[in-house]
Amino acid sequence: MRTAVFSARRYDQSLLAQANRGAGHELLFIADRLTADTVPLAAGCPAVSVFVNDQVDATVLRALASQGTRLVATRSTGFNHIDLGAAAALDIAVVRVADYSPHSVAEFAVGLLLAVNRKIARASMRTRDGNFELDGLMGFDLHGKTVGVVGTGKIGAIFGRIMAGFGCTVLGHDPFPSPAFEQAGGRYVPLPELLAGADVVSLHCPLTEATRYLVNTQTLAGAKRGALLVNTSRGGLVDTEAAIAALKTGQLGGLAIDVYEQEASLFFQDLSSTVITDDVIQRLVSFPNVIVTGHQAFFTQEAIGQIMQTTIDSITAFARGEELVNRVPRS
Ligand code: NAD
Repeated sequence: MRTAVFSARRYDQSLLAQANRGAGHELLFIADRLTADTVPLAAGCPAVSVFVNDQVDATVLRALASQGTRLVATRSTGFNHIDLGAAAALDIAVVRVADYSPHSVAEFAVGLLLAVNRKIARASMRTRDGNFELDGLMGFDLHGKTVGVVGTGKIGAIFGRIMAGFGCTVLGHDPFPSPAFEQAGGRYVPLPELLAGADVVSLHCPLTEATRYLVNTQTLAGAKRGALLVNTSRGGLVDTEAAIAALKTGQLGGLAIDVYEQEASLFFQDLSSTVITDDVIQRLVSFPNVIVTGHQAFFTQEAIGQIMQTTIDSITAFARGEELVNRVPRS
């Protein structure tokens, strides 16, 4: 099936082509993001594959439908970038990659936590410059501390288990409690109790209307003073301006993010030779107790292999009129 693959980086191209060997779909790789401007590039493609920062809103979906697209396959777990209502109204099926190594993201969240707590990135930059001074690099033992996990699904449950292994008390908040989280030593509490008690808070819930700006001025005020916040989930969970204000007062002791609410115009590209006009991200990266990575938590060999294979399998199932096991529910 002729498929336009948007936001196609080099690794997308080689690994999707590899996964496609037996399936034989005609893949049209497009490096640009899908937007209202780039949508004509998918003309005549019944399937379109997108990534997290592609614009799959009602306008773009209408244009896709008018060009003959019937399937949108996102190479991600999250689907907050897709207007599902509009897709359903236009009879466009939406599939995602529901299951790929959740260890990839959970382990990266642990890495970010260690890096921000123990100032590992700062220390590495210093030693490259011949500076072996320790002042400013002190962290705290994770052993014996309390870690709050917001969203205890596949990734959050693994993150909680790893933190329990560090000797932490693990608190969780999730409208749908999971036995796996409790078996790993986690204990469910209401969100205000989690925030008030946790030395570290890690976000692992999806971005929905209910969770947008879950971390805001008010919730930050109710957090334990000096707590570290880790976000590997979606940028929109955190009101970044509120986080910056809390970092300035010390209410927030550190921030480690792999996702950022305005990441669409920044991430997955080399902007090192351009002037970045986003003052918020520039402010964030200026703090010594902030670490920003460019949405790479999923980026392991295992996870990427599964993402590409599932995407090809979904396109094959669609082409054959078979059941779409990774179809995103319409509501
Ligand atoms: P999952 O569906 O297994 O778990 C999500 C959990 O969040 C569920 O248990 C759900 O009940 C819970 N939840 C929903 N609303 C909540 C709320 N208001 N408060 C607390 N919990 C709530 O998903 P997952 O596979 O664990 O992935 C979690 C998120 O991680 C995804 O939604 C995605 O945004 C993000 N993610 C990021 C990357 C990355 O590379 N940075 C990669 C994959 C996934």
